[in-house]
Amino acid sequence: MKKILTAGWMWDGERRVVENPVLLIDNEQIIATLTCKESMPDGWERAERVDRPGRWILPGMINAHTHLYSALARGMAVSPFAPRTFTEILEQLWWRLDKALTLEDVSMSGLVGAMEAARCGVTTLVDHHASPNAVEGSLDVLRDAVSGQVGLRGCYCYEVSDRDGAAIARAGIEENRSFLKSLSEGSGRESGLFGLHAAFTVSDETLESVAKVLSEDRGVHIHVAEGPEDERQSEAAYGMRIVERLDRFGLLRPNSIFAHCIHLDEHERDLIAERGTAVVHNPRSNMNNAVGLLDIPAFLDRSIPVGLGTDGLGCNMLGELMTAGLVQKHTREQSLAGDFGMLDQLLFRNNPLIAERQFGGDIRFGRIEAGGPVDLAVLDYVPPTPINAGNVFGHLLFGVAVHALRVGDLWVGGREVLRDGAFVELDEERIYMRSRETAASLWKRL
Ligand SMILES: [Zn+2]
Repeated sequence: MKKILTAGWMWDGERRVVENPVLLIDNEQIIATLTCKESMPDGWERAERVDRPGRWILPGMINAHTHLYSALARGMAVSPFAPRTFTEILEQLWWRLDKALTLEDVSMSGLVGAMEAARCGVTTLVDHHASPNAVEGSLDVLRDAVSGQVGLRGCYCYEVSDRDGAAIARAGIEENRSFLKSLSEGSGRESGLFGLHAAFTVSDETLESVAKVLSEDRGVHIHVAEGPEDERQSEAAYGMRIVERLDRFGLLRPNSIFAHCIHLDEHERDLIAERGTAVVHNPRSNMNNAVGLLDIPAFLDRSIPVGLGTDGLGCNMLGELMTAGLVQKHTREQSLAGDFGMLDQLLFRNNPLIAERQFGGDIRFGRIEAGGPVDLAVLDYVPPTPINAGNVFGHLLFGVAVHALRVGDLWVGGREVLRDGAFVELDEERIYMRSRETAASLWKRL
């Protein structure tokens, strides 16, 4: 079906800011990006028009590492809660939560988490899931909520861990294996990785089993050196650093995702660069857990693709991007650290690259261009100062991120998820009411 989308401005994700853009859309593809001064080609007179005067079209954003299951934890009180280390944060909060999750909770958290992502202009997310007492079928349930009901592109995995015993670790391996097998070739809306929690909760036997069933064309999605204890445990128990250990099992692959990587040494960074593995930075989560700061230049200087995720702390990628810049400046005491060029690389170059590696096929992520997919957000943002290709990040960070991120329309692969501020196919009020009930019942079980 042909549609025409017009707005006040468009940034194509690269170099072009277009005033009064006119996008010609045919089903899932952008046919042309014109301006209102150009004449309409033949055959478009009867196309449906979606006019958003004064609004700003951006490429749909990608969240390269998140945990949707955290959506029902907002406002939850846990007691006792007095963590002294990162591992104690996991033990006292997240591992108690994940053990209490039922498939119904997984579905609801996926639904609400994906709806919030849509409201933040996110069209693609890479999730890392855990529900040790509801492993089987959990990825299907998530896929149905996120990609089916909400309509986002999702890359899913189940985090295998030995922390809850051998039977649950085996169930996690099977969940990844059967989910990956079920993926339809090149659907473009769903993909998968083989999930692992973190090196310090996964034994050599489990890594061996994962390596055995992992097919050539898939990578792993794992937390690496998030807290300092991860490396300490690796050296004490295995006599080697985490990345060396994962490499022995062949898990450093171009389509693998290593989240965090804060406490790596030079040799580990070299190894990651050599293998082409992607790293995902999650600054707000790292600050919240007080685990340290990623040395981003040490990775980018080695041409390691460093992307950006929220680690389950919401889905506001522009807020995350703002923080990524600020924390570099603050910690290094250099006002020019974390500059626009670096931030552009994280969210608008490396995240699309990471998504392209996961979704394969011909989808070019993160750009609005003729022949590309219709993955875009229309922001309710009126620039009070001139906007052009040279100052886009000034508006994104000091305008949108610090004031109000309001996404009126969201298109994913041509499907209208949000239209003029409302979900097209979902009853938001009813879902949020059910979500509050589901969360209240989950909290009681903790
Ligand atoms: Zn994480």
